[in-house]
Amino acid sequence: MTAPRGRQFLHVPGPTNIPDRILRAMDRPATDFTVPAFRAVTDECFDGLQWVFKTSGPVIAYASSGHGAWEAALVNVLSPGDRVLMAETGAFSHWWRDMARAHGAAVSYLPGDWRHGVDTAAVEAALLNDRSHAIKAVAVVHNETATGIVSDVAGVRAAMDRADHPALLLVDTISSLASMDFRMDDWRVDVAVGGSQKGLMLPPGLSFTAVSDRALEASKKADMSRFYWSWRRLLTAEGRPGFAGTPAIHFFYGLIEALAMLSEEGLDNVFARHARLAGAVRAAAGAWAASGGPELNAIDPAEQSNSVSAIRIPEGFDAEAVRTICRDRYNVLLGGGLLDFAGKVIRIGHLGDLNEPMILGALSAVEMAYEELAIPHQSGITAAMASLAPQ
Ligand SMILES: *Cc1c(COP(=O)(O)O)cnc(C)c1O
Repeated sequence: MTAPRGRQFLHVPGPTNIPDRILRAMDRPATDFTVPAFRAVTDECFDGLQWVFKTSGPVIAYASSGHGAWEAALVNVLSPGDRVLMAETGAFSHWWRDMARAHGAAVSYLPGDWRHGVDTAAVEAALLNDRSHAIKAVAVVHNETATGIVSDVAGVRAAMDRADHPALLLVDTISSLASMDFRMDDWRVDVAVGGSQKGLMLPPGLSFTAVSDRALEASKKADMSRFYWSWRRLLTAEGRPGFAGTPAIHFFYGLIEALAMLSEEGLDNVFARHARLAGAVRAAAGAWAASGGPELNAIDPAEQSNSVSAIRIPEGFDAEAVRTICRDRYNVLLGGGLLDFAGKVIRIGHLGDLNEPMILGALSAVEMAYEELAIPHQSGITAAMASLAPQ
């Protein structure tokens, strides 16, 4: 095989493309993180993160993958034995559930079929059943990256209100933040979990918890063991976020640039671009499915994710073979199926720094792989292009 030339097409649903502007901003010497100039940089980042999370509460940053912020969300507000209501949406809800159990939480796990989002009626029923208010938190994944399905967080909050239940609402927004609308304060989310390497277009390694007043109050009584993750240790007396040890200095220079890019484009335009590019993938998948070929996993149009599409490969064909051809022959990287979806789906990430021809290029490689593997399909490229044409 010849050496690959041209750009690699990164279409996993995180990490996403890091724009050159961000790479340049991070390419600098280390500094003393106690100097006022660096404090000014992190202050600007925390203000910008509040704008992205749409919250007036503190956003706390950790040097960790998203898993770290998942853990921080749990251990700061829960005590061992506390009950948590979680909803099965896919692999990521499984892993967050496993983490809660590992910390001694009692998890009630609402079953799901991996083709739908959180069942808000089931959330309401579970909370109505909980007359003693044993459930301390409801935890849901906003955008289930394993299935390409977005859940209705406002609907979950409405269900909690209808049940008149005091549980906290914890939301994983790792693969939706800065690519789909997320409204921490409007939806009265108590802890929102974010990560650097998806919509924020940064390298992996920085994660966030955005925290409501109620969550901060709960953290004073909660006694799961914690130290590195402890909000109380991390927040200054004035409520400004600090760091446990040396901050991930370079990330903050990159984050300033990421926030500038999001602000120049406008968050609503960022969301609209994601919707447009996702629409092209869905248009192609519609053509594939119409001919008995691969189909979109998400059934309900209102739940189709604008940051990642999971595509079900027909029975008798290996989804991993599609990925391998895309990777080795065309230098296009796709996501694979996780847990129950292993070998059955490919996932096309379409979040972060992407435009129309990049999506069309990735879809073309996918179709060439279908062709090579004799997976039945009618080409969806024309439909994808039509969906992208200016209205
Ligand atoms: C990527 C992702 C995670 C995990 O983030 P890591 O940085 O890989 O730990 C968790 N939840 C969702 C929804 C994700 O997309």
